[in-house]
Amino acid sequence: MYILAILTFIFGLIIGSFLNVCIYRLPAGISIINPPSRCSQCKQSLGIIDLVPVFSYLFLRGQCRHCQAEFSPRYPLVELFCGLGFMLLFLHFGLTVEYLTAVFLFSGLVVCSLIDLDHQIIPDQVLIVLTIGGIPLLLLQSTSVFLDGLLGAVVGGGLLLLVAVLSKGGMGGGDVKLAAVLGLYLGWSGILLVFFIAFLAGSVVGLTWAWLKKKTLKTALPFGPFLSTATLIVLIWGESIINWYLSLF
Ligand SMILES: [Zn+2]
Repeated sequence: MYILAILTFIFGLIIGSFLNVCIYRLPAGISIINPPSRCSQCKQSLGIIDLVPVFSYLFLRGQCRHCQAEFSPRYPLVELFCGLGFMLLFLHFGLTVEYLTAVFLFSGLVVCSLIDLDHQIIPDQVLIVLTIGGIPLLLLQSTSVFLDGLLGAVVGGGLLLLVAVLSKGGMGGGDVKLAAVLGLYLGWSGILLVFFIAFLAGSVVGLTWAWLKKKTLKTALPFGPFLSTATLIVLIWGESIINWYLSLF
């Protein structure tokens, strides 16, 4: 069990390293396979010793070996976050189809959230990959999980579309599509719980931020990261939260 947990952590670090490439290259329209990883300053190709997740960053003290350009500490942080996410999901699901489904969704969400933070867009390519990959994974779990997912996609996309229309552009089209994809993975009750957590967290953070910066709430806050964080919470604790809520009545 412990060995497997450590292996899933290492697997998460490696996937995180690949996701960093996607986060940087997708919005720029560069292929994620070619050219191989290189320094964005001096264009020198990076070798194996420059690409070991987290360790290379620490060993090279966050600098390029060739031109001493500084690498953002965000790279090792994304890798660490993925390592932890992959391990936590393993400890919850074990080595199951549910686990594969969860880490696939988790990886896509890491890419969506960081691109949303950087560029205020949620890339269609990632949503398409999540949809095409998600359908067989859900069908492998069971037909009823898949049907619940279809309902969740309609509920998730539909509700945010309503918010987008009513708020006249306060909610982006990318968020609507992301909510439909999340609904597909989480089912109708899961996506409602995600909305509840995301809106609550978004309001608290948004109001605090507006108060600190003395700005109005009109300043758009990227909603993608809130949806993604709420999804991770629901993947792990969703059932417990829903059962606790139902026990109140
Ligand atoms: Zn360099």
